[in-house]
Amino acid sequence: MSSGADLVVRNGVVVTPGSIAEADLAIRDGRFVAIAGRGGLDLRSLGLDEAEVVDASGLHVLPGVIDAHVHFREPGLEHKEDWASGSEAAVMGGVTGVLEMPNTIPPTDRAERVAQKRRLAEGRSWVDFGLFGLLGREGVGHIRPMADAGVIGLKCFLGETTGALPAPDDEELLGALREAASLGLRVGFHAEDRAIIAPLIEAARAVGRSDALAHTATRPIKAEVQAIERACRLAAEAEAAIHIHHVSSRAGLDAVDAWRARRLGVTAEVTPHHLLLSTADDAVRLGPMTRVNPPLRASGEGEALMEALAAGRIDLVASDHAPHTRAEKAGDDVWEVAPGFSGVEILLPLLLTAVQAGQLTLNDVVRATSEGPARTWGLYPGKGAIVVGWDADLTLVDLRREWVIDQYRLHGKEPVTPFHGRRTVGAATATILRGRVVMRDGQLVGRPAGRLVRPAERIRLASTRQVR
Ligand SMILES: [Zn+2]
Repeated sequence: MSSGADLVVRNGVVVTPGSIAEADLAIRDGRFVAIAGRGGLDLRSLGLDEAEVVDASGLHVLPGVIDAHVHFREPGLEHKEDWASGSEAAVMGGVTGVLEMPNTIPPTDRAERVAQKRRLAEGRSWVDFGLFGLLGREGVGHIRPMADAGVIGLKCFLGETTGALPAPDDEELLGALREAASLGLRVGFHAEDRAIIAPLIEAARAVGRSDALAHTATRPIKAEVQAIERACRLAAEAEAAIHIHHVSSRAGLDAVDAWRARRLGVTAEVTPHHLLLSTADDAVRLGPMTRVNPPLRASGEGEALMEALAAGRIDLVASDHAPHTRAEKAGDDVWEVAPGFSGVEILLPLLLTAVQAGQLTLNDVVRATSEGPARTWGLYPGKGAIVVGWDADLTLVDLRREWVIDQYRLHGKEPVTPFHGRRTVGAATATILRGRVVMRDGQLVGRPAGRLVRPAERIRLASTRQVR
């Protein structure tokens, strides 16, 4: 199937899984066909002497960024975001692929709704997209049809969130995990235990608390650890591969690692806001708009997660892009403020800034935003690295580009972010999807040509973690 374009990318510093080196890339029909030292491509013999050339002098050439956790809100919540606006924000931030969550209206919980969402995205999405199917109550019979319809994986909410979707009980979960495992699908968990959270919220409201810190206080770390333990215990029993979304605490990550040591195929994700923000510095300063689930944590948790990321203990970093309108994010009563915020456009600049600060290496960033998500969700091989024969998704970055995040200039419908005003160093200057330039210097190029991605092969139970 012809799916992409011809392109030559010259004079950049190319980041492959094993190296960072000056190299030129040849792309034919959307796939890499040759990688050579600077000036070493024989374009005539490759049949590319007429191809468009991108000069990447002074730039780093990364495998395309995959944001493995976004909410693009369509269908049903288009006042917050839609496929056109969300995917535009993505390519502006150097993202070439997103994995999109099922808590839309209606939820993506059966094959017809997967097909419906796919139709909404095709022709309007600027990035390739995977679609999560919802694992809800009494949903086991829908898993196989959803797998056939091409879901990237399943998502299960163990605590309430946007959409207030009811969570399955242990027996239902066990049956669903067995079915998912038999189909080679990984199941992702929003791991917060509502049995711990619900009475704490009730008690806080009863004494009249409505401040930002009350939100964190009612969703303690033990609620995360308990939910991770439950998900892992059931996954081990079902011999299923699972993923823990947005781990927010050191204790949560320790729980994941303990299960990995027992050879459970469990992967872990963190977000920039859990890595870089805290209650003391940010929730106090910014108030209820910082509401997010899981909540911001005390100082020290983010630093511990950053060290764990650098040590290779975390599989991927994703934005959890969860946009709402400015009105929905405003006000002094934390219980009335919608949880979550925009993030897809600033995922990469925030991580490149951590490289500048010496907290991460460029390899760590590539592993966390490209190879890691591709391996976790079954897109590897094929996507997630610069390899001959694979999809030519590229993110060109200028590591010196300085920027101050301004939520009034970000893309998307009404982007609101607690990172507003933050200085970053390093940004995408071009985004290339299967050999087609789709963003250059902050401008959209061409037309939206994103298409559905689905697991290339069954997820194996073994952990995908890369031990260094
Ligand atoms: Zn989410």
